[in-house]
Amino acid sequence: MTTRTLHMSIALDYLEEVTREDERAGKPQQFITGTDGRPLSYVAAFVHINELRAEGLDVFPPCRDTDATGRCRGHHE
Ligand SMILES: [Zn+2]
Repeated sequence: MTTRTLHMSIALDYLEEVTREDERAGKPQQFITGTDGRPLSYVAAFVHINELRAEGLDVFPPCRDTDATGRCRGHHE
């Protein structure tokens, strides 16, 4: 038996919505991190979401092995 790992991904539209809700509620931005692993500012987070859309993605890529929409292709172990 082989095992396959599939990373869950979140739709960019939903991610943007919950991030805007957090911003309105005065919470720190928590979902999107930079290359240093620390959360981005809200402005930078929304810029990043739009950059991903410009690349043709409709979900936030959960790992490095994704298809053209940003979804995980699955990993064999
Ligand atoms: Zn993956």
